[in-house]
Amino acid sequence: MKRVYNFNPGPATLPEEVLREAQAEFLNFDSSGMSIIEISHRSKPYEKVHNAAKATILELMGLGDDYEVLFIQGGASLQFAMIPLNFATKENPGSYVLSGTFSSNAFKEADILGVGEIAASTKDENFKRVPRQDELKINPNAAYLHICNNNTIYGTEFHYVPETGNVPLFADMSSDMLSRPVDFKKFSLIYAGVQKNLGPAGVVVVVVKKSFVEKSSDILPTMLRYDTFYKKNSLYNTPPAFSIYMVGKVVEWIKNSGGLAEMARRNQIKAKLLYDAIDNSDGFYRGHADKDSRSFMNVTFRLPNEELEKKFVAEALQKNLSGVKGHRSVGGMRASIYNAMPIEGAEILADFMDKFRKSNV
Ligand SMILES: *Cc1c(COP(=O)(O)O)cnc(C)c1O
Repeated sequence: MKRVYNFNPGPATLPEEVLREAQAEFLNFDSSGMSIIEISHRSKPYEKVHNAAKATILELMGLGDDYEVLFIQGGASLQFAMIPLNFATKENPGSYVLSGTFSSNAFKEADILGVGEIAASTKDENFKRVPRQDELKINPNAAYLHICNNNTIYGTEFHYVPETGNVPLFADMSSDMLSRPVDFKKFSLIYAGVQKNLGPAGVVVVVVKKSFVEKSSDILPTMLRYDTFYKKNSLYNTPPAFSIYMVGKVVEWIKNSGGLAEMARRNQIKAKLLYDAIDNSDGFYRGHADKDSRSFMNVTFRLPNEELEKKFVAEALQKNLSGVKGHRSVGGMRASIYNAMPIEGAEILADFMDKFRKSNV
């Protein structure tokens, strides 16, 4: 059976080497005579996997031991609630930059608790760009400023790290964490549901400043508190061992491939191929994102009409290009080109876009 080029937004493509490695050791992990999903999370072989994944994540991000990596379930969506629960109050609210669906969902949770406010929004422009620094209204009393670094659905990405003065910066990096070097030290809390760029669904990687996590609210139930995960090395209860194991393999793969600089190099090549196909199409393809907000991870574009869009999806599939249909709130196409998408996949898609245009103008 042939594998396809998988452009799905998430769950998404993973490095084939990683999948093969997991397959090869599935029945007998680390000479235990058991698979990784059958052994105790208190066992030595599991502990090794758990701690190595954490260490490699910090190493790739260039962060020292003033940061901690937590593994939490409930998806990025639970982080939307845990963040305001732990850190925001009416006096020191969470401040949110609305740049797409997920940042709006994050704000919604803070709003339910009555502890959220909006620092900027590009909703009126159908989220075709992220707000500029000079548009951010940062409340100096805010508990944090929350951004979504890459807007998976609209295909926009922050290409700057907001300056927030003394206000801690938090980011949802679900769809672009470890895709390029970023000055991660400027952030107090970063989280990513791993099923976009880092592994299978089931775990969220939270990278948090230790000084910050110690400030978790102490009136919350145990499993909603960051300090529970922090104090117990994310082993207070049974962790999603298989997801963490796969994340460990993916980050090792990133490291062995040349780290974040190499990921960025590849991702820029892929993105350029597709954006060039859009820009050189005489208006046949229309990108959703403003040029200076374009995402390196999710390339969104429309065709002249929905009939052609349906045809594009069907013919792409015949070329082994899967998952290019866009999200219903933007329409059109979305090609997700995460770390694991080979450059060849983007080349074939760009070539297909060109040929499709020529035979359908
Ligand atoms: C997919 C996604 C989410 C939602 O993640 P879940 O793990 O499904 O809750 C949140 N933020 C961003 C940026 C995403 O891409």
